[in-house]
Amino acid sequence: MNLSLWCLAFSPRSISISRSISCSNHVFSYSRRSGTRPRPRQLKASKSKSDDVSADLVIIGGGISGLSAAIEASSGGKAVNHDSSSVVLLESQPSPGGRVSSDIINGFIFDRGYAVFVENYPQSQRLLDYSLLELKKYDPGALIHQEQSNRNINGNDNGIKRQMARIADPLRQPLRIMDAITSTVGTPMDKLRLIPLFYKVKTNSVTQLFSNDKEQEISTLSCLKETYHFSDKMIQEFFEPFLTGIYFCPLQEQSSHMFHFVFKMFAEGAASLPTGGMQAVSNQLMDNAKGQGVDVKLSHAVKNIQCHEESNDNDSVSYRYTIDTEQGATIHCKSIICATEGVQAQKLLSKIKGLESLNNMEKQPQRSVGCMYYSFQTETPVKEPILILNGGGEGSGPALTVSFLHIINDSYAPKGSGLCSIAIPSKYMHKYKDQQKKLDMMVRDQLSDWWPDCSSEDIQHHWKLEKVYDIQQAQPGQFQGVQPANVHGGRDPSLFGEVSLPDGLFVCGDYMATATLNGAIESGLNAARCAVGYLEKVTVR
Ligand SMILES: Cc1cc2nc3c(=O)[nH]c(=O)nc-3n(C[C@H](O)[C@H](O)[C@H](O)COP(=O)(O)OP(=O)(O)OC[C@H]3O[C@@H](n4cnc5c(N)ncnc54)[C@H](O)[C@@H]3O)c2cc1C
Repeated sequence: MNLSLWCLAFSPRSISISRSISCSNHVFSYSRRSGTRPRPRQLKASKSKSDDVSADLVIIGGGISGLSAAIEASSGGKAVNHDSSSVVLLESQPSPGGRVSSDIINGFIFDRGYAVFVENYPQSQRLLDYSLLELKKYDPGALIHQEQSNRNINGNDNGIKRQMARIADPLRQPLRIMDAITSTVGTPMDKLRLIPLFYKVKTNSVTQLFSNDKEQEISTLSCLKETYHFSDKMIQEFFEPFLTGIYFCPLQEQSSHMFHFVFKMFAEGAASLPTGGMQAVSNQLMDNAKGQGVDVKLSHAVKNIQCHEESNDNDSVSYRYTIDTEQGATIHCKSIICATEGVQAQKLLSKIKGLESLNNMEKQPQRSVGCMYYSFQTETPVKEPILILNGGGEGSGPALTVSFLHIINDSYAPKGSGLCSIAIPSKYMHKYKDQQKKLDMMVRDQLSDWWPDCSSEDIQHHWKLEKVYDIQQAQPGQFQGVQPANVHGGRDPSLFGEVSLPDGLFVCGDYMATATLNGAIESGLNAARCAVGYLEKVTVR
C-alpha cells in the first residue's frame, strides 16, 4: 500500500477502533468511532482558594506522550470554564515537546539531538496531520563510509582504503536495483540474507512482530548473527551505525523485536524531516490540544503531588489530588497523568504518601547521545537527500551518522547556508566532556577523510561549529533491565513497575511502551483512556 493510501486508511475520520485497556483492577472498555468517544464529563469546577485552580484531569509533562494524552482526554469538545478547566497540562519548559523539540537560532533549526520523522508509525498517522508538517523525505537506503585494509596480491599492507558505498533499497527504489546488487557493503551472500529479513517484516504486522515470538526475544546482535547469518562486515558497515544511531546503544543491548519493528517502518515508509524542524510535530500536538480546550501551562514545573484520602472539597465532586508547582501555583484535581520521563516520574511519585517505596525501586538504564551541528556557506559534500553512516566500526571516529539537513528540508538553514548534523555516540561525549575543541577537531579530521577531494579544506577551515548537544536520558533501555521499553501496545498505566498507583493516578511515556515516538503516543492514549474511564466512574457516584 502506498503512503497516501496508508494515510487515508488511518485518517481520523475513518477510524473505528475497539480498544480495551486494563487499568489495574478495572477494565475500561469501549468501542469508538471518531466523534462519539467518551470523554471526561464537563464537571462543575470549583475554587478552594482564590488563586487555586481546579481541574478534572492534570497532565504533568508536555512531551509527545503528555500532549497525546491531552488530545485523547479532551477530544469530545471544549472544556474551558473561566479560570478552571477540565484538562490542564503542566510543562516545566517554556516550549512543548520534551525530547522532540528544536532550537531556532539565526535562521538555523537545531533539533535537540539528531532525529527523523518516521512516517509509517501507526500512532503518528492517527494523531498528526502530515500535510501540515510539510514533510521532506530522505531517499531510501544510505551512503556508507567504508574503511578496509588494503592489501595487494602479495599480502603487503597498502594502508587503509576509504570509500563511500551505497546501500540501496530495491523494494522502494526499483531503479537502484543494480546499486543494490553491486554494492560493496557487506558480502555478496549478505544480499541474499536480506531476503528473509525483508520477507519477515513485510509479511508480519507490527503486533505479530512483537508477539509471534514472545519467548524468543534476543539481542539484535544475536538476531543478526544467529537468525539471519549476516557477516561481521555487513553488521559493522550497515546495521551497527544505522541501529546505534536510532537506539543509542550497542547491538547487544538492543531488542530483536524493536529491530524488526524499526526495520519494518523503514522498509515500508519514508523517514523525513518536518518543515520547521521536529518542533513542528510537538507544536501541532499542542495546538490540537489547545484547540480542544486543554489549558496548556508552559514553564510550570511540578514539585509536589499530594493524594488525599478523602475529598478535600465540600462540593459533591472529589478533588483527590493537589499539585504544587515550582512557580507557586496550586491545582486541585480528580485525576493525574504523570507524563514525565520515567526517571522523573519515579522521583515525583515517590514523594506521594504510600508510594515512598518507588524511591528504592531499581532504575531502568538510560541511553544518552550527542549531536554536533556545523553551518557552512561552501559546497555541500553530498547533494542528495540521504543518510550517511560511518561504516568504519569502533575507533574510526566520533561521527556515527551524518546528515545535510538543508538538502533534506531547506527550512533548516537560511538561504545560501548549509547545516550538517552529526550524531555522536555517548562514549565520545563522555570521554571529551571537557574537551569540546578536541572533539571538534576529531570530527573535522574524520569528515575531511570522508570527502578529501572537494571539501576537506572547507570542512577544516570554513565550517562553523554552531551547537553541541549532550543528551542524557535520551531513551530508556529497551532490552533487559527492570522495565524495558519494548512493549508494543503499552503497559498498564495504573502501575509503576509492579507498584499499584492510587485510584485516578496514571503514568505514560515512552518507557511505558516502546522507546520511540510511536510508543510515546501509544502510552499517552492508553493513560488518557484510563483517566477518562476513571473520571466517568467518580462523576457518576
Ligand atoms: C536525540 C533523540 C533522537 C530521537 N530520535 C527519535 C527518532 O528518530 N524516532 C523516534 O521514534 N524516536 C526518537 N527519539 C525518542 C523519542 O523522542 C522519545 O521516545 C519521545 O519523544 C518520548 O516522549 P515522552 O513524552 O515519553 O517523554 P519526554 O519527551 O521526555 O517528555 C516528558 C516531558 O515532561 C516534562 N517534565 C519533566 N518533569 C516535569 C515536571 N516536574 N513538571 C512538569 N513537566 C515536567 C519534560 O520537560 C518533558 O517535556 C529520540 C530521542 C532523542 C533524545
